[in-house]
This record gives sequence, structure tokens and C-alpha cells, in this order.
Amino acid sequence: MIGPLPVHLSGALVECGCCIMYDVDLTNAIAEIKRLKARIIALQVPEGMKKRAYQIAEDIENNAGAEVMLVAEPCFGACDVPSSLFEMVEAIVHVGHSPIPAIRYSKPVIFVPARSRVSVSEQLKKAVGLLKEPVGVIATSQHLEELDDAIEGLESMGMKVKIGEGDTRISHVGEILGCNYTTATSIMDDVNSYLLIGSGTFHGLGVHLATGKKVVVLDPNLEEPREIEQAKDKILRQRHAAIEKAERARSFGIIIGEKVGQRRLRRARELRKLLRWKRKDASLILMDKFDPEKLKSLGFDAYVSTACPRIAIDDVAMYDRPLLTPHELEIVLGVRKWDDYSFDQMTDDEF
Ligand code: SF4
Repeated sequence: MIGPLPVHLSGALVECGCCIMYDVDLTNAIAEIKRLKARIIALQVPEGMKKRAYQIAEDIENNAGAEVMLVAEPCFGACDVPSSLFEMVEAIVHVGHSPIPAIRYSKPVIFVPARSRVSVSEQLKKAVGLLKEPVGVIATSQHLEELDDAIEGLESMGMKVKIGEGDTRISHVGEILGCNYTTATSIMDDVNSYLLIGSGTFHGLGVHLATGKKVVVLDPNLEEPREIEQAKDKILRQRHAAIEKAERARSFGIIIGEKVGQRRLRRARELRKLLRWKRKDASLILMDKFDPEKLKSLGFDAYVSTACPRIAIDDVAMYDRPLLTPHELEIVLGVRKWDDYSFDQMTDDEF
């Protein structure tokens, strides 16, 4: 399926590994590189677009006259800009994620959106019957283009629609991150359900747990909208099992992410204090890339991650010791009830 694509400076269509087309417009990035007079650039792209990163690199080299180095390490969000890059290059071009305004980088980071361009109109018609108005409309970064289409489509079908603003980890109205649902929670008292434009289960379940409201997921690359409740049981069973196992643990490692947008030292210290108050052994651990082998060699009975909240949930099968989120540790220690379970969020007051 993947063949050579024409590269256009403005509005280049870049295929990801599974043949989804993304609109990558480098016009502003090239102007910014020229303005900064940056001569050496690091280029970060999400995993799904790596095979096409050379097109973007070539475009930048040809049009901005800067030398580009592709970053091979995986990149999962605007939080994920390795500190070492700041020493080696004069600016970083980061494709596919929205900026997180709360993060302060030590060198310029130029964000380039990669927007999917798939029509949502057919799925919207099917989603309407599943939604209860007023409907909160939210989207992940890659689907912000379709967010406006969805709002327009729902309104044209006579539905009342709301869109929320997030805190300073969020740069667009209606956008959610896997670590921040404040655009959804800011309107939770005004809506009866949410329509999420995005893929996978994580974000939708996070919004459902944070708000208690029904969430319908419209993945533009699938045929049918899905109700998130269908996927809920399996994940909650896994989390419950991890919590039960951690109740028998004596020693806990509290992981602080080294990535620039994941460093929650204050939260980690609070958890250490709580553990010691409950007469458990607790140490702080610094970690950049999560790896089960690293945790095995440290030898704690259980771990708590204050870094990206997705790791403990998505990678559960990789770890033989419980890897918990801060909320889950609070349940283990009896200061939060299982009935109040929600996914971990990073909010602006933690940084
Ligand atoms: S912390 Fe995780 S969910 Fe939040 S932006 Fe970074 S990679 Fe995404």
C-alpha cells in the first residue's frame, strides 16, 4: 500500500504505518526555523508516522536550510522531549501532538499538527441515537479537524452541543490528552453524554470514569461508533487485580518520570509520606523509559508511577509486580474507595 508520495511544503499528506492519511503543514515550522536562524534541528514524529519522517526532514532541509536529525526514540506526546536533545540541537520540530502550554522547554520546540482528514458524517448519523443531549464534544489531538465537523453535524441534526476549555496542559478547546480530561470535566454538569472523536479505549474510559457520563467514541477510521462501557469491565478487572496484589506488598518504589512534561516530584513525595505513615517502605525512583527489567532489578514488591498515566494501564501485561497509578495506591492504603476509582490525571497545579 505504501508507495512514494509527492511532498508538498504546505499541507503535505503523510501516510502513517496503517495507511491513515495525515495533513502535515510545515509552512509555519519553516518560517519559525528561519526566524530563529536555527541550523541544527531534531525532528520528532509519532511511531505511526516514522516511515514517512524522511519526507518531512527533506522538506525542512530543502526549504529552511537547516540540518535535520530524525529522533529514533519513540515519542508519545508533547511531554516527551528528551533532555539530551536540548544540548545537541538549536530547535526541535515535534510533529503530531499539540503543545502543552504548562511545559517550559529549555530550547525552542516547534509544534506541527498532523491532522487526520476523514469524513465523520456517516458515523455521526449512527452516533446520534446513542447520545443524550446536551452532548459534550471532545477529541484527541490528531482529530481536532473532525471536532468542528462533528459539532456542525450534530447541530444540523438539532442536537444541543457543548465544548469545554481545559487547564494549562491543554492548548485547544475540546481537546483531551490521556493525562488530562479537563475539557470534559469543565462541562460535566452541563451535559448528559460525550461524543469523543478519537481511537482506542483509553481516553473514552478515562472521561467516563472522571465524569460518570456516557461516552460514545467515534473513530473516523472505523465504520461504527462505540459505547465505551463495553470495554470497561476488562480494564477495571485488571486494575482491581493489581490493587489486590499490592495490598500484600511491604515495599513500594515511587517512580518519577524524567521526561520534561511528566516530572511530578511533589506528587511523588506526597505518596512517599503516605506510604511511610502507613508503615510501608517507600523510595523515590527516577526513570525515563519504562522497562519491566529495570523494575525487576530494583526488587520492590510493588511500584507506583507518577509519570504518564497510560503506562500502568496499557502495559499491565508486561509487569510481574503491580504497577499502580497514584489513585490506585490511595485505594490500597485505604484513603480512597474503589467506588471513587478514576484514571490518574496530570493537572496544571502539579508542575
Ligand atoms: S503524559 Fe502520557 S498521556 Fe500525557 S501527553 Fe504525555 S504521553 Fe500523552
